[in-house]
Amino acid sequence: MSTVGEMSTVGEVTLGERWRAARPAPAGVHVDSAACSRQSFAVIDAAARHARHEAEVGGYVAAEAAAPALEAGRAAVRALTGMADADVFFTTGSGHALDILLGDRPGERRLACLPGEFGPNLITMQRHGFATLPLPVDGSGRLDVDAAADALAHDPPALVHFTILGSHSGIAQPAHAIAEICRAHGIPIIVDAAQGFAHLDCAGIGADALYSSSRKWTAGPRGVGMLATRPGLLSEPAVLRLAHAEVNIGLHVALSVALGEHLAAGPDAVRARLRDVGAGTRTVLDGAAGWTVVEPVGEPSAITTLRPPDGVDPMTVRSRLLAEHAIVTTYLGPERAPREMTRPALRISPHVDVTDADLAALEAALIAVTR
Ligand SMILES: *Cc1c(COP(=O)(O)O)cnc(C)c1O
Repeated sequence: MSTVGEMSTVGEVTLGERWRAARPAPAGVHVDSAACSRQSFAVIDAAARHARHEAEVGGYVAAEAAAPALEAGRAAVRALTGMADADVFFTTGSGHALDILLGDRPGERRLACLPGEFGPNLITMQRHGFATLPLPVDGSGRLDVDAAADALAHDPPALVHFTILGSHSGIAQPAHAIAEICRAHGIPIIVDAAQGFAHLDCAGIGADALYSSSRKWTAGPRGVGMLATRPGLLSEPAVLRLAHAEVNIGLHVALSVALGEHLAAGPDAVRARLRDVGAGTRTVLDGAAGWTVVEPVGEPSAITTLRPPDGVDPMTVRSRLLAEHAIVTTYLGPERAPREMTRPALRISPHVDVTDADLAALEAALIAVTR
């Protein structure tokens, strides 16, 4: 029986098949998109072509020629966030964006964030002198919207930092609801969409700033990312620093191509497919060799977190899946979300192209290496 097989009529090419055909063949099974997705031929070629152009005409001349492609990338970010008049900046990644945003904020240094906040983000917050208050959540780490409305009304922090989808869990957080509460109380809200962008609905949240990474669900190159802010949010010195930094323009062009590919595939279709992929993955893997799935089966994300049976080390399992079965997964140590995770886990994050055969291979391998 098919669990993630796409419904297609004879002769029709599905979204997943198109996505797979557009990139180099995987060496084994790649179910690690939350860490780094596989780039398409067009994205890889865009970076290489820009480097060639730099060699031909000069790096600064090539940068001028690339300006329209970069503007198309910024327009795609505006479309996907629903922030029609946003200032959009290319960054070196999500962590870079948070560093810029927090470093640029004057005034009171007290922010609210989820208990499942990404560990490296907590370190950045602390480095910028921010005290953090926990937003109220239920037993699965999901925001309790009513309790959050009460807490933010009663004791408003200077800022809310909201991670729409964690690195350690596939629970899709209600970003639109928290943003509405923040607006009602005049509290600025920054959204970490490192895992949510090109995966969940990030349009029309109404955040003051939203940032993401290129390499995750957008399937762009590593080492770059994007930051969208409401117009004028960043100070002039911060904008000038970004504008004058030495950057890899070729990777910005390649990211812009990946954003264009995502728009062309259809963000709604990708989102629906990733939801099915998550449900199918959880159905196949829950209970396999004693591993348990953390998320509800129907959680609308493609991240599956597996808790190990007693005495099994997810780090060893991750290594053996790779070495013995050519299956790429992620080891999740508690430092990833130190205020929520109590023990290590294994993360499975397939993209739209995963097949029933991939999941069957993963299930068999997981059973083999867990024994
Ligand atoms: C990956 C990740 C980050 C950091 O992204 P970089 O691009 O590596 O800086 C931040 N937040 C979350 C939730 C992530 O998953």
